[in-house]
Amino acid sequence: MFIKTLFDKRACEDKLRTGWGLSFLVDNRFIFDTGEKGEWLMENMDRLGVRPGDIEAAVISHDHWDHWGGLWDLLGARKGLKVYCCSRFGEEFKAKAKGLGAELTENDDFVQIHKKIYLTGQIDGSFKNAYIAEQSMVIKTSNGVSLFTGCAHPGIVRILETVKNRFSGEDIYAVIGGFHLMHESAGAIKAVVEKFRELGVKNVFPTHCSGDEAEEAFKNVYGRRFGKVIVGQTLEI
Ligand SMILES: [Zn+2]
Ligand SMILES: [Zn+2]
Repeated sequence: MFIKTLFDKRACEDKLRTGWGLSFLVDNRFIFDTGEKGEWLMENMDRLGVRPGDIEAAVISHDHWDHWGGLWDLLGARKGLKVYCCSRFGEEFKAKAKGLGAELTENDDFVQIHKKIYLTGQIDGSFKNAYIAEQSMVIKTSNGVSLFTGCAHPGIVRILETVKNRFSGEDIYAVIGGFHLMHESAGAIKAVVEKFRELGVKNVFPTHCSGDEAEEAFKNVYGRRFGKVIVGQTLEI
């Protein structure tokens, strides 16, 4: 399965837009998160030859601007797009998505949305002492199971353990996305990296809110099995 990065903080060429938030294109037809700004998402899609009409569904990990920022323009370009959120996303988000013609699904439980694609359902998290619901995406291929996270506000290890329990017996091939470790101490980051090893995670691609220190810590332990997420590049899982 091929994953193309549509938006993130680094790009493979200057002409591609970069910024806060992330967006991944799965199998050329599913989008996981949409980055911070519609105009930039659409520009990157255009430059990378991705046609909005080919997109079947968008999964929004959680109700934060840097993850749904591109959704409104995408809905303008792709009428009636299927959008997956969770029931505890804000009413403002839901009303806006529906108002722009999204076929909105509020999903709270573990669910399979395509032959190889699953959603964890709503996992409770917190951000700045307030509740935030978040879902993550899981893709199962012959290589094993790969996990995609938005910001990992429920805690990256907790999400990973949830997925590991659900797919017991499967290898965790890759964990890709925001791990939200940018405000954590070196000790806490080290503990997370050790937990990844213990849970048998084979490849890691921390980006977005993971933080430079955590990226470095993963790189030191994972070596060649650490990868950077770069807009315009395609990853095979
Ligand atoms: Zn974020
Ligand atoms: Zn967030």
